[in-house]
Amino acid sequence: MIVAGIDIGSRAAKAVVMNNGAIVSSVTCDTGPESVKTSQMTIARALEGTGLALDDMEYVVATGYGRVLVPFANENISEISCHARGITWYFPEVRTILDMGGQDCKAINCDAEGRVNNFIMNDKCAGGTGRFLEMIADVLNIPLEKIGEAALRSKQAIPFNTICAVFAKSEAIAYLRKGVSKEDILAGLNEAIATRCLNLLKRVSIEKEFTITGGIAKNQGMVAQLREKVGLEPLLSEDPQIIGALGAALFAEDRCRGKAAAVPAKVQYGYSDGTGNYFITIDTGRCDGCGECVPACPSGIFEVAADDNGQLKARVKEDARKKLALLCPGYEVCLSKLGRNCHTVCPREAINHTW
Ligand code: SF4
Ligand code: SF4
Repeated sequence: MIVAGIDIGSRAAKAVVMNNGAIVSSVTCDTGPESVKTSQMTIARALEGTGLALDDMEYVVATGYGRVLVPFANENISEISCHARGITWYFPEVRTILDMGGQDCKAINCDAEGRVNNFIMNDKCAGGTGRFLEMIADVLNIPLEKIGEAALRSKQAIPFNTICAVFAKSEAIAYLRKGVSKEDILAGLNEAIATRCLNLLKRVSIEKEFTITGGIAKNQGMVAQLREKVGLEPLLSEDPQIIGALGAALFAEDRCRGKAAAVPAKVQYGYSDGTGNYFITIDTGRCDGCGECVPACPSGIFEVAADDNGQLKARVKEDARKKLALLCPGYEVCLSKLGRNCHTVCPREAINHTW
């Protein structure tokens, strides 16, 4: 059974080709401006030297930010499902996953089969993402691949007040001017990012075993800080960056065997910032996709769409996720103003708010 998984992320595109459950090849390429071309170039690179062609693939699953734009994919599946599925191929004992990607950070809790129980996504701010670390590497004039080991040489991490990308950059420049070493600046930033990741992980519950996926898991300085903050030794695969593509390839194998996709039981959308925690949780196990919440919300926060199994479920619209606190005054205020809200109209008690 020959299958492929392709993960079009915001910064890097990854592909994994599998034959009867074994990895035949895997590649990581830069994401270009056009997702279609990026996907074609990435799969071509993955097939190089394998003696296989795209037509030999029995099933292809696409995931990641650009997954809907992969013309040769038979199906697309969310990156959360793919990361959980991919990492449990290496470590079936993993229950807590921190996925540190190019433009967001996700904490995931899963079961032994790689089914997502709960996940939370923090994509409001670039702080702590691959894009953020690229910017800091640039400011400090250190190659991106060297910043992890540089942070490990720090003698005294400098405390950062923020990891907001804009302010942290200014703080880093100010420290540089004062003569603080680049190593101490990097260690301080890693510590601040690790604290934020810890808070994210606590929201999905931290269980043994713990892993980090995504390109940032290759950064030794960040991994050292996360090890200390979380208090657990992370299980790291040989290439944490290809885990989403690997999960997609494993789903492709499932499809060849006629198995349906697993869907997360609870999904939390939102973020924490200086003013508080703003998360809306949708229990997709309860939600039957009736759509009552969509017109009930005066801010148009919800939509109903097919999940990975083709079932209709409610979700928070992509463009609402980074400004939830601006759009929603909180369910109690909303209820007192309108006399009804998403909670009162939902017949399945599937929606919850943190604030
Ligand atoms: S509480 Fe009101 S504004 Fe907030 S999500 Fe629900 S319906 Fe929308
Ligand atoms: S009202 Fe409740 S059950 Fe209906 S789509 Fe919204 S969340 Fe799902």
